[in-house]
Amino acid sequence: MDRLKVATVWLGGCAGCHMSFLDLDEFLIELAARIELVYSPVADVKEYPENVDVCLVEGAVCNEDNLDLIQKIRQRTRTLVSFGDCAITANVPAIRNQLGLGNGESVLQRAYIEGAQTNPTVPREPGIVPALLPRVMPVHEVVHVDFFLPGCPPPAERIKALMAQVLNGEAPKLDGAQLKFG
Ligand code: SF4
Repeated sequence: MDRLKVATVWLGGCAGCHMSFLDLDEFLIELAARIELVYSPVADVKEYPENVDVCLVEGAVCNEDNLDLIQKIRQRTRTLVSFGDCAITANVPAIRNQLGLGNGESVLQRAYIEGAQTNPTVPREPGIVPALLPRVMPVHEVVHVDFFLPGCPPPAERIKALMAQVLNGEAPKLDGAQLKFG
């Protein structure tokens, strides 16, 4: 039997959602036997592959790299899950939206110039440091999202419930923990 091709992605988040995924403990062994992890921060794969069955996306869309990647992910993924509150609402990364719209310059000024104690310099390196978007966005503002998995981070039991249903070929149920969108 073909194993399910699964990806996990880290956009603008703190990695806490991925840490919760690792809290699946022994269920990870069952998962490993039944899925192929084709792309993830915990796997050394440079290019997001084609024909991914399920992708869990942690984090908000904050910069141009995030924007390019989430659009590519959507094109190449059958089921896309907003994984955690930053992906669902933009949550913590969206705090910088309060500094006003623009090109992201206001938050860079606040962090690297006004807040600097030595050598106030905004880091700029085209091709290495991606430009900030004017506003941090939740994933569903950019691409269609199939399921939400809420929590900051989502508890491991909630992740397990979703993954168990996906592995069984079921559409995750509307039980208050996993919410279908659209
Ligand atoms: S939802 Fe919470 S744990 Fe997950 S990336 Fe955002 S801040 Fe971190």
